[in-house]
Amino acid sequence: MASNICVSCHAPANERCHTCHKPVCGKCVVPVGSNTFCTKACAENYAKFNARYKGEGSGFVGKLVKLAVVLAILGGVALFVGAKVLKIGFCVELLKKIGM
Ligand SMILES: [Zn+2]
Ligand SMILES: [Zn+2]
Repeated sequence: MASNICVSCHAPANERCHTCHKPVCGKCVVPVGSNTFCTKACAENYAKFNARYKGEGSGFVGKLVKLAVVLAILGGVALFVGAKVLKIGFCVELLKKIGM
């Protein structure tokens, strides 16, 4: 069976690359965690793909939270400086409204 011959050494293969699905034998296989790969390049590609995929999920929410925090701090500082230092009427009014 041609599909069960190792891509590296042409010995009978009993593993399969997780990235490119090529058959690979137990001697040439690159195991990473619970997955098997035909080459280090394939293992790295899979890790990169996985990291990017995971990074987008939590990264997007994380960025939003960070942005909200930064905006809140900047807004607070700007308001405070505007009212106490620059004596901008709008800022003084706003600070009074929120009880500062
Ligand atoms: Zn092999
Ligand atoms: Zn591969």
